[in-house]
Amino acid sequence: MKLPILVLAFLPTLLLAQVNQDATRFVQAVAKINDDHARNPGQALESSLATKLPGDAKSALQRLIHAKPESALAPALRQCAEAALDLDLAADFDRIRLRLEEVSPDEAKKLGRIVSRPRFLVRGIGDFANGYLERFADVLDAVLKGYDEVFGFAEFSKVPGKKLRVRVHLEPEIKQPPHFAPEFPWHSEIDFPVSDASELRSPTPKGQFLFYGLCHELGHVIAMWGDLKTMEDHHSWAHYTGVTIVEHLADKLKGSPLLQPLGDSRWRSLARERTLPVNQTPASLKSAPGVMKLLIGLHESVGPRAIGDAINFLDREGKSRRLNRVRYYRFTDFRRALAATIKEEDKKKAALAVMDGAR
Ligand SMILES: [Zn+2]
Repeated sequence: MKLPILVLAFLPTLLLAQVNQDATRFVQAVAKINDDHARNPGQALESSLATKLPGDAKSALQRLIHAKPESALAPALRQCAEAALDLDLAADFDRIRLRLEEVSPDEAKKLGRIVSRPRFLVRGIGDFANGYLERFADVLDAVLKGYDEVFGFAEFSKVPGKKLRVRVHLEPEIKQPPHFAPEFPWHSEIDFPVSDASELRSPTPKGQFLFYGLCHELGHVIAMWGDLKTMEDHHSWAHYTGVTIVEHLADKLKGSPLLQPLGDSRWRSLARERTLPVNQTPASLKSAPGVMKLLIGLHESVGPRAIGDAINFLDREGKSRRLNRVRYYRFTDFRRALAATIKEEDKKKAALAVMDGAR
């Protein structure tokens, strides 16, 4: 069949329009599902959200993956790959990445690879050794299980039901420690630079505590204190949960291959915090060591599970301040939550005495 000359002249433009239209449709569909969920999370989990993707968005992606390569295709595929990650559409992400490898191998590299597990998505950007990301995911699973066993926090993500994200990226050198990136609209993400592509080892030869860093950042994911200007905890909360989990896992997984490259507990543990000269100070809300002393005091008098119960109580209550959906608690509310959740009278008294001793 012969196409009229006019259509032939406009064919590239028509194809471009179709590519952009399909990408936009897919990205918008994902955004709408995530926005609706974030407004009213209920009990829905991310796995069930994925089933809500409308048929026309699926076919738009399908068309895009089979579209002829032209200049707009690579950026359109990248856009859709990011959107697929926002909804944990791992199979779609992989299909898009494979297509991008044909269209633009450099762009495909920037996307990286993902490992999706029930509670999180690990994304690895860089030339990691085979199995690196799977082992990283095993470590993260163990850390989350450690948090379950010690504190029993009910919800990790700032948007309930959404999986956590960790973005592991290979850099020539680590210039910043891992950090909780609060800016993403629909999920909690930890940014995690590494410089060794063969395996997650910690501490690094330069003395960076990456394993502790992962445990520490999850503390931030769960709870921030005060507000953006006033960190009521003076950055002691995540340090406390971090060393507590490092110590717990070092005891529990002693001798296991998983922990073999992760030796942070020698330098980062609750036992060490108890003996540090800087922490030999009265509990208070005025300084980092004061708050550390307060948290250690609670840990010793009522145990970490009571701390977890109190945070879960505040979440159920749903009154705590949220900034970009991240939870910000206040110690006065935390005290009230401890009073409401500790059943044994003597333990409740002890916890409140610790709280009231810190001013
Ligand atoms: Zn921190």
